[in-house]
Amino acid sequence: MKLHISHNQAKAPLAHAGKTGEKISLVGLDRAGIAEALREFGIADKQLRMRSNQIFHWIYNYGITDFAAMSNIAKDLRARLADAFTLERPEIVARQISVDGTRKYLIRMAPGVEVESVFIPSVSKTGALCVSSQVGCTLNCTFCHTGSQPLVRNLTAAEIVLQLMVARDDLAEWPSSAGERKLTNIVFMGMGEPLYNTDNVAKALDIICDDAGLSVGRRRITVSTSGVVPEIVPMGERTKAMLAISLHAANDDLRTQIMPINKKYPLAELMAACRAYPGLSNSRRITFEYVMLKGINDSPAHAKELINLLKGIPAKVNLIPFNPWPGSNYECSDWETIERFADRINAAGYASPIRTPRGRDILAACGQLKSESEKIRASARRKSGGHQQ
Ligand code: SAH
Ligand code: SF4
Repeated sequence: MKLHISHNQAKAPLAHAGKTGEKISLVGLDRAGIAEALREFGIADKQLRMRSNQIFHWIYNYGITDFAAMSNIAKDLRARLADAFTLERPEIVARQISVDGTRKYLIRMAPGVEVESVFIPSVSKTGALCVSSQVGCTLNCTFCHTGSQPLVRNLTAAEIVLQLMVARDDLAEWPSSAGERKLTNIVFMGMGEPLYNTDNVAKALDIICDDAGLSVGRRRITVSTSGVVPEIVPMGERTKAMLAISLHAANDDLRTQIMPINKKYPLAELMAACRAYPGLSNSRRITFEYVMLKGINDSPAHAKELINLLKGIPAKVNLIPFNPWPGSNYECSDWETIERFADRINAAGYASPIRTPRGRDILAACGQLKSESEKIRASARRKSGGHQQ
């Protein structure tokens, strides 16, 4: 299969939302952060609010990367700003486009901090960007490749926002106010556990949802968690985002086997937190993700357990065909088994779409992120005679 892969490893790494050489990056900062940077730069107090609002608008509504384009700011000030600050994007180490239109980006936020995000177009008007919240993950779910990698670190709010900026650049979707956008939704289903990084996720959403900037509706953003119970309700109150729960099993024994976090926060506590999720209603349902593992969680009895567990919760169930990875101990359930499972859930009154795997040719599916890119890069290095790390 033909892939479009562009490697630009020659470019110098750019540390983001921090100092890059002598210049400070403003991209990824909120209004207060921009105002603070401008204050230190020497903008007078009485102008700070106006100037930071102007710059916020240029960065997040127009997506500009050059201060020269800021036409409502005097030329000499633009030039001085350009000497002190940068609007440059982080380096895209690799970009791949699947035959089905899925786009995967490997972005270097800082040396050793590489992040993947995936744009998933849809046949209808909406398309979603799947973003990462951490590099690696501490949770070790047995079916997830990200979980087999150690946590490198939490991403900053700026690094989360930058994933969206990079995708908007690539899809040429500036300004934010333009209609007919392809990238309309955001899902936190990339690498990492967002509720172990709630503060930065919430700060990123404040920037992403600001009407004067990127302007994504809070109901178009879904935060997926493996079940970090104490963070679920506070996250909902703080962000007003939609909630997805990676459930994968409806009894404690099985769930603990495949998701160790269930030992700490068992199903009764998890479901209580779901019931208390703010704003829950039939038009604002919780999505329960359920990965179909052959012979493990896919029997009619499992479907019945799931239906019982969800009773009384406005819910829909996303059935995810398991995506295998090298060394994984599971197989994906047969298609017929998945369809029968879906029929049972559906008959109980819950929407239960089967997620079509997207971007399979570029290894962009759930649970496959990062590691495969590292393999691609390692093989590219081998081909070019470079060192293997
Ligand atoms: N840590 C968060 C968000 C990232 S995982 C969470 O667990 O919810 C995003 C989704 O991909 C989760 O539902 C996860 O269970 C699922 N997933 C992980 N590995 C997978 C695999 N190999 N095949 C299919 N889905 C997988
Ligand atoms: Fe981490 Fe989510 Fe993967 Fe579990 S499924 S290891 S929580 S990324």
